[in-house]
Amino acid sequence: MADITADELARRLEALRESMRREKLDGLILASEANVRYVSGFSGSESVLLVGARSLVLLTDFRYVEEAENTCPHALVRLHKKGLMRTVAAEARRRRMKRVGFPAGRLTVLQADQLRQGLGARRLKRSSGLVERLRLRKSPAEVAAIRNCLVIAQKAYRSVWRRLRPGMTESEAAAELEYQMRRRLGASGPAFETIVAFDAHASEPHAKPGRKRLRASSIVLVDWGARAGFYNCDLTRTKPIGRIPRKFAKIRDIVLEAQKRAIEAIRPGVRLRDVDAAARSFIASQGYGKRFGHGLGHGVGLEIHEGPYVGARGRGRLEPGMVVTVEPGIYLPGEFGVRIEDMALVTDDGAEVLSNLPRL
Ligand code: ZN
Ligand code: ZN
Repeated sequence: MADITADELARRLEALRESMRREKLDGLILASEANVRYVSGFSGSESVLLVGARSLVLLTDFRYVEEAENTCPHALVRLHKKGLMRTVAAEARRRRMKRVGFPAGRLTVLQADQLRQGLGARRLKRSSGLVERLRLRKSPAEVAAIRNCLVIAQKAYRSVWRRLRPGMTESEAAAELEYQMRRRLGASGPAFETIVAFDAHASEPHAKPGRKRLRASSIVLVDWGARAGFYNCDLTRTKPIGRIPRKFAKIRDIVLEAQKRAIEAIRPGVRLRDVDAAARSFIASQGYGKRFGHGLGHGVGLEIHEGPYVGARGRGRLEPGMVVTVEPGIYLPGEFGVRIEDMALVTDDGAEVLSNLPRL
């Protein structure tokens, strides 16, 4: 991982060991790609990390051994031949680990069985969320990586916007955007499948780009992000081309005001649901409460959707270093939809909006 230093990986590992001590675990098995990457720096997949009080072992297969040795400064790299779970169980046994946390929900039934057989059910403790909790607050290096994704995504959007012509399809515009991010601007790919939706199609929050064509006057919703250096970003713009219908302008202004209120509500200590409510109550007061059917936002980092979840039922509070999207929307079936999404960093006393692409 290019931008994350060995020192930062060491700090993450120490913070994780601190959580393990609180949970009375002397071993922890990590299996999700993002968690393995966060703790070890490893950039491959299908590998498992075994974290001990003083040890760190990455179990991978022959394809990744060299890469692992180059990217994981603190881990011992072990090749597994007879199955990941059998090997990780043997490693934990050899290191005399007594209480080993494992991500029960992430393993297949077979994998969980192999772990139990290898290590004994008594020593295994279901454990999840320890690394996810650490990932909530981003370090300056992580924020820099996310900013870099935003620079790429915003440049690509500007360039595609200039190329939009009547007759172009949604899929063509989406492909062009992804091409610009990857080939010209240095992204490793789109952060997720790009959404481009024209006119009535934009009333579906998760519209898949299709063969619908741009008209001389159209409403264009684009929800996209770049992935670079293993981090991600997430933005949405809804803008008209040609004549601006009066109803569109009215709905857009409501969404903009809702987003502004939510961003103003962001500061450390505020409840997640109150940030959601700042936008939702305004949209409801304008008569469109039932037309805003999704949560206000989510965290973004190594994964495009991660904690904290900023919704009406979101538990917990904002903390400095969290990076969240703020994406209110109003969807009018058969007519159009408007969603505007930006990303904000929770600072020590408020919010810094990380994206700076004009909303109009
Ligand atoms: Zn989005
Ligand atoms: Zn989003």
